[in-house]
Amino acid sequence: MSEIDTLALLQRAKDSAEWAYAPYSNEPKGAALLCSDGSIYASGNVEFATFSGSVCAELAALTQAISEGKRQFKALAIFPYRYPCGTCRQFLSEFGLDVQVITACANGDIESKFLPELLPHSFDKSNIG
Ligand SMILES: [Zn+2]
Repeated sequence: MSEIDTLALLQRAKDSAEWAYAPYSNEPKGAALLCSDGSIYASGNVEFATFSGSVCAELAALTQAISEGKRQFKALAIFPYRYPCGTCRQFLSEFGLDVQVITACANGDIESKFLPELLPHSFDKSNIG
């Protein structure tokens, strides 16, 4: 696996947070997804009045990448400090568990974990049927 530029990926996530639409939570968040081919998809979260239909930044970045044919991912950076919600962890696992999730603490320290640490005993195709 080639080296991941975590600072650059976190910066893309931070930039995307500026375009988030989060008038209800007032918590703009950005996510940047690094695909195995080196391409990056980034998005902010998108909320609307009925929270149930809101879209996490991670999910928005993932669906963008998938809609353009990407299926293999190396890393997902999130800004500000946060790990993905359960739905986004499960969605990401659909495309493999070898994904590094990166986030930055308020003091600038960077944390990262691989998806199996965040989603042990993930539900996959083998659980169906
Ligand atoms: Zn989520």
